[in-house]
Amino acid sequence: MEKKSTPKKIYGVLGYPARHSLSPLMHNRAFAALGIDAEYKIFEKKPQELGDFLRSLSGENIRGLNVTIPYKEAVLEYLKWKSPEVNFTGAANTLIVKDKDYIEGWNTDGIGFYRHLMLDLKFDPGGKKTVILGAGGAAKAVTDQLARQEVKTIVIYDVDKDKSSRLADKLSREFPKTRAIAADSIDSLDIGSASLLINATPIGMKKGDSCLIGPEKLHPGLLVYDLIYNPAETELLKRAGQAGARASNGLGMLLYQGARSFELWTGVKEAPVGIMKQALEEGVKNL
Ligand code: NAP
Repeated sequence: MEKKSTPKKIYGVLGYPARHSLSPLMHNRAFAALGIDAEYKIFEKKPQELGDFLRSLSGENIRGLNVTIPYKEAVLEYLKWKSPEVNFTGAANTLIVKDKDYIEGWNTDGIGFYRHLMLDLKFDPGGKKTVILGAGGAAKAVTDQLARQEVKTIVIYDVDKDKSSRLADKLSREFPKTRAIAADSIDSLDIGSASLLINATPIGMKKGDSCLIGPEKLHPGLLVYDLIYNPAETELLKRAGQAGARASNGLGMLLYQGARSFELWTGVKEAPVGIMKQALEEGVKNL
């Protein structure tokens, strides 16, 4: 009797727009390297298509998804189980399709940031002070993870003070070992006593964008981490270099959030990070 072949497992990124995503390059290279019969595609769906798409996943043999703008919050109502990080941030960037009616939601952005910090930059934020610019989705994921790692103090600045206050209150409530404070203004930020400065605003993405932090505030004892990776060097990172501070863009965060998603989908203990990194570096040159 002829053996029935198992259909190829499908993964992908769901967003709108999503066509410029670097994730297909990274994941398809990783599947090929490990000999896994799977394909990672782009699913660019309009808001009115979202519900039907998410209800049809198992029928299409779609086993997992990354979720990007603008659907990280909208997917929550389709989830049967949410990770602690999804519960904290209110957003999921990784779905695992377990069954027709059973989708799990995870958020790997925070762990991606943290792994990059620890594994590549060899920077342990535990017991230190962090200043973060922005209190949106990425800032929630990053501060949640930092608080899980018992960072001593997190100071949050956002144009919308209500937003930064809400995030600081939530962090303080859920992680009592971390002191989380919302800054009143950008000028009131004490960066001199901080070890880590993170930009989690979109300021720096566009040519001609201003820089939120004056050069006099930066110092050699600081690691400046900009979540932006395109351009590779924002004005903030340039200033950090000039001030003798260490500087990193967010490409490593993108890599490690993808690596964690890959591990969750495949059950592989460690994703082939070297191969995925090479794919990302090639891809980012063509953006
Ligand atoms: P978001 O949810 O829109 O959050 C950005 C926050 O920054 C918002 O609260 C926004 O306030 C605030 N903001 C904007 N301009 C500001 C200013 N001049 N001063 C202070 N706060 C300001 O966006 P997100 O999803 O968190 O993304 C933030 C950045 O991180 C983006 O550049 C994104 O590309 C990057 N990112 C990178 C990775 C990675 O893997 N490397 C992953 C996720 C995100 P308003 O809402 O009032 O404008």
